[in-house]
Amino acid sequence: MQIDQYSLFFLIAMIATILSIYLAVSVYRLKPSRGAVPFAWMMMFVALWTGAIAGGMLAATEATADTWMFFRMTGMVLTPVSWLFLILRYTDKEHLVTTENILLVSLLPALSILLFATNDIHHYFVTEINYFRSGYFLIDDTWSLGPYALVHLAYSYTLVLIGVYFLLREAIRLVSRYRQQAIALIGATLIPLVVNISHTFHLIPQIRVNYDPLGFVIAGIILAWGVFFNQLFDLSPIARSILVENMIESMIVVNQHHQIVDLNPAAQRLFGIDRAKLGTPVEDIFLAKNIPPPRLEEQEQRYHTEVHDSQGELHNYEIQSYTIQGQRAIRGKLITARDISEQKRIQEQLQYLAITDALTGLSNHRHFYELLDSELERSRRSQMPFSVIMFDIDLFKQINDTHGHLIGDQVLREIAMTGKAGLREYDILCRYGGEEFAVILPDTPLSAAILTAERLRMIVDQHEFHIEEIDVHITISLGVSTYDPKQPVTIKDLIESADKALYQSKSNGRNLVTPWNKNGTGAVNG
Ligand code: GH3
Ligand code: MG
Ligand code: MG
Repeated sequence: MQIDQYSLFFLIAMIATILSIYLAVSVYRLKPSRGAVPFAWMMMFVALWTGAIAGGMLAATEATADTWMFFRMTGMVLTPVSWLFLILRYTDKEHLVTTENILLVSLLPALSILLFATNDIHHYFVTEINYFRSGYFLIDDTWSLGPYALVHLAYSYTLVLIGVYFLLREAIRLVSRYRQQAIALIGATLIPLVVNISHTFHLIPQIRVNYDPLGFVIAGIILAWGVFFNQLFDLSPIARSILVENMIESMIVVNQHHQIVDLNPAAQRLFGIDRAKLGTPVEDIFLAKNIPPPRLEEQEQRYHTEVHDSQGELHNYEIQSYTIQGQRAIRGKLITARDISEQKRIQEQLQYLAITDALTGLSNHRHFYELLDSELERSRRSQMPFSVIMFDIDLFKQINDTHGHLIGDQVLREIAMTGKAGLREYDILCRYGGEEFAVILPDTPLSAAILTAERLRMIVDQHEFHIEEIDVHITISLGVSTYDPKQPVTIKDLIESADKALYQSKSNGRNLVTPWNKNGTGAVNG
């Protein structure tokens, strides 16, 4: 049998149909991406289109061929619709892929199908189709198009061109690997367009058959290969875009001239700019927000900064910059900004809890020793003495026993407040443990510390503790010791001295101040 252009065309149409169904089914079954569903739809429409071409060629009568023609038209009309929504998904215009939009775009195609089905009545679509037989095949040779055909054609071209427009935009935006893919897709879709125009307007009279569905088959292969099968999905533009676009972390890509090449919505919000700012030096947008810009000469950088948002709220940001290494040279930088305000707040809260006594809000035992360390350090440098007062509530057990632990707790709180009120601002009152307290008195010699201790004793003695209708009288016993940088001692010794002095106050009758004295202690006041 001699292979003429009709046999060849029939063969190609059959292969295209099988291939399209295969791609539709396998991509749909694999479902590796959100584009899989519109892809499967498009390939099924293409299969309907090419399959109906092949079927029509095998038709025994013109009436059967007319039925095939209807399916063929349906596939042909719906392919550009599914193509457009596939491309919208592929280029991450997800918000445009809505049921309303799909219905809206399908309105005219639905009319086309209706008009084609009823064509015999009005001949708006096609005025005449002439068939002739060539060997086994029935060939639809000359079409005389009705006025509506042009509307349908213009509409289909428009849909395809809108898809091409989005692909072009994507090609400009994307890194080279995906750019090639986008360009290949554009090429593949322009094929049916050119072929269709050529066929419709009989530009090449020798070619009597219409190859235009093949472009969509090629586009399908490119898509399936690149996006769905080649494991590009994880890195694919779709995934990349979704990830970057929805990330709360701000991302900015700059080229080697520090110009902004890309930035995600989070970065647009943070810097209060839009994509119109592409191309401006990244330093400008940082400085406009009073954020120190990253030093891009450095390989990698990480620093923290504080930024007021549009509501005037203060946020902490962690800025990082990474080098984007090309094959030969540095291509640019990726700059990220992460809002760490919440993390920082929790950190500060933990820090606070770690050094604070929960009952009184005073510095706890542990913090007391840290503060003491730095005070000792300071005293060594400044050669100024500092003092420590330790005090313990007198007969506190009785208070607990008489009024209960909860009242006892209240007393502890009130002691903390009263004690603070009797101290200078830079004196530090701590809860040493139980009902024992300690005070650090910076830059204070023993004589002044004794006066302060005495003041504390008096304030507590005279304070009227009125807790939940209960009047309690409280006294405290105090011990004082001083760190003299000229006769340095250890912190342990310093606290032990104050403790011993406190013990002296207790044994001397309580409600007393006792300064530490190496040669035995003597109570002051009482
Ligand atoms: P002294 O004058 O000798 O100090 O007599 P005291 O009764 O105060 O004796 P001591 O200091 O040994 O007793 C401490 C008591 O303080 C024992 C404990 O029940 C009570 N206490 C310790 N911590 C707390 C607390 O957080 N809340 C309450 N309500 N009581 C506490
Ligand atoms: Mg005690
Ligand atoms: Mg006590």
